[in-house]
Amino acid sequence: MKLRALHLSLAGLVASALVFALVKTGTGQEAQAKNRKVVKSDAEWRKQLTPEQYQVTRQAGTEPAFSGKLVNEHRKGVFECICCGSELFSSRTKFESGTGWPSFFAPYDKTAVDTSTDFKLGYPRTEVTCSTCGAHLGHVFDDGPTPTGLRFCMNSAALKFARETPAAAKPKVVKAEKAEKVEKVEEKKAPAKAETPAAESPK
Ligand SMILES: [Zn+2]
Repeated sequence: MKLRALHLSLAGLVASALVFALVKTGTGQEAQAKNRKVVKSDAEWRKQLTPEQYQVTRQAGTEPAFSGKLVNEHRKGVFECICCGSELFSSRTKFESGTGWPSFFAPYDKTAVDTSTDFKLGYPRTEVTCSTCGAHLGHVFDDGPTPTGLRFCMNSAALKFARETPAAAKPKVVKAEKAEKVEKVEEKKAPAKAETPAAESPK
């Protein structure tokens, strides 16, 4: 029995190390903390966040499965950090894991999140935090879909969804510029037209 537990824990360690190696290029927790751009006091976080958001992000809590509002969010957009607004995940990497937590196969970019090993459940898991403010987001496992094989299992309470708008806004800017040019051309034409009848009338 003891041997089996040891075996399981060793297997967990190897799996965790593998996930860690896949996700991170070996920066220590202290270095991660130093790199943080948003640093606030505990009181400030408490004031800014709801009790659930605070418990999840600042105390490494986990919301109950299927309780979060972003599990079934399928619109195109970006999932931002509830604490600091950093872009953490894209809807393009979201997938249905069936776990009851929003799941992604990759972060928004390599520098968006930090990872470290935690033993809270007695076996190693790879914790995922926001690299900008240190918010606890969830964990990453190596049973995700292609192309990464990773499953970022996140808490809805740690994220804020922002619908994708830049792609729709770009063509509008182009159209506005074109419309302006057309107006200018018409302005030039208009006086010419007005001059013609005036020039013709004396004849
Ligand atoms: Zn953050």
